[in-house]
Amino acid sequence: MDTTAHVVIVGAGHAGGTAAGLLRQYGFDGRITLVGDEGELPYQRPPLSKAWLKAEVDVDALYLRPASFYEQNEIQLHLDEKAVRIDPRRRRLHLSGDKTLAYDSLILATGARARRLQMAHGDSEGIVYLRDMRHAAALKDRLAGARRMAVLGGGYVGLEVAATARQLGVDVLVIEREPRLLARVASAPVSDFVLGLHQREGVQFRFRASVSVLESRQGRLAALVLDDGERIACDLLLVGIGAVPNDELAREAGLDCEQGIVVDATSRTSHPHIYAIGDVTRRRASENELAPRIESVSNALDQARQVASAMAGRTVPAAETPWFWSDQYATKLQSVGLPRPTDTTIVRPSASGSGLAVLHLRDNVLRAAETVNSARDFLLARRAIASGCVVDPRALASEDAPLSALLS
Ligand SMILES: Cc1cc2nc3c(=O)[nH]c(=O)nc-3n(C[C@H](O)[C@H](O)[C@H](O)COP(=O)(O)OP(=O)(O)OC[C@H]3O[C@@H](n4cnc5c(N)ncnc54)[C@H](O)[C@@H]3O)c2cc1C
Repeated sequence: MDTTAHVVIVGAGHAGGTAAGLLRQYGFDGRITLVGDEGELPYQRPPLSKAWLKAEVDVDALYLRPASFYEQNEIQLHLDEKAVRIDPRRRRLHLSGDKTLAYDSLILATGARARRLQMAHGDSEGIVYLRDMRHAAALKDRLAGARRMAVLGGGYVGLEVAATARQLGVDVLVIEREPRLLARVASAPVSDFVLGLHQREGVQFRFRASVSVLESRQGRLAALVLDDGERIACDLLLVGIGAVPNDELAREAGLDCEQGIVVDATSRTSHPHIYAIGDVTRRRASENELAPRIESVSNALDQARQVASAMAGRTVPAAETPWFWSDQYATKLQSVGLPRPTDTTIVRPSASGSGLAVLHLRDNVLRAAETVNSARDFLLARRAIASGCVVDPRALASEDAPLSALLS
């Protein structure tokens, strides 16, 4: 191995931080530099809407590794600097503050940012987003004094915050543009389950609705007006309307991007010395098909493993089927794989009786699954998907036999 090789990682988040650690773990003994613009060591975001927001864990529990890990492993940190330009031809990365890093290989792990609400009074006090620690601290502060919170967007982040806010005693109303919750990421049975769960906890909902006016008094949010004219008084609004990939650096450098940096099955970009991993990427599924951008820890870790393996001279593992989890109240939602509208869908109650399993088959092969309150069913489904298990849809639908007997 070339011990003078220099790997530069842009983005000190879950994917970038993991890749840096794995490079050393896999025996890479060249130079590693990690560049981040948040002024923080790499940390995990999932607790920001759950355990950390409820004050069940403190900030130290968020960091992937302590500062000493990077020192001991000779990983150079630039944690308060933004990468502003890539020169792929000369293999140079330009940082804010006029610094330049020469690299042999570059890993882009720049993640995504919260999509902003573009309307008058959109920057009023009391309107918050949730993508990073700073956002989370502001949200936590505001929740402590809030009486009525509106959540714009019934996706995972919005619903997790709604659950946390209810548990803290705040009134919550969720406004969703689509006719159901989690419309982009979950099947209708899971959406219905989640809706019932939140309704039992007292959350109110408006579907097929959007905000047309924000009312602000002395710079503070006072109310929202929906497009049907309904006026909703609230002192806090969480905007959870999705994330936008931070792919500008890559686009300006001429890399292939389509609402995310396009990578192949081993996380290489269209440039031979540049890889990309995590939320910012979209995998090319085939010559004519791009997979959707996946925002999940499992995807970030999977791609980090691939690039670290490639650079350490190991066999690059095949991409894993992506999976995801969400915690709301005492309920755990898990999903694996990417269902298609044409799949055969089978819904079964979970073995525990308090949840369900939704199984998605294509050509009698299990391709994707969603489970609620059933870690066991989830593991069975994950294994069956990985092994390409052929199943009998009629037997699966009958509920007579346990899932363990049908997915082996
Ligand atoms: C509130 C919340 C809850 C979540 N819950 C779950 C969950 O329950 N389960 C799950 O699987 N996933 C969850 N996720 C998603 C998960 O956190 C992401 O998939 C994961 O963080 C992706 O890692 P990443 O490294 O690609 O991006 P990020 O973790 O976003 O890291 C990207 C980093 O790059 C930095 N950066 C960007 N541009 C530059 C630049 N030009 N120069 C320097 N630095 C730059 C960013 O500031 C950021 O620090 C959650 C996300 C959020 C926000």
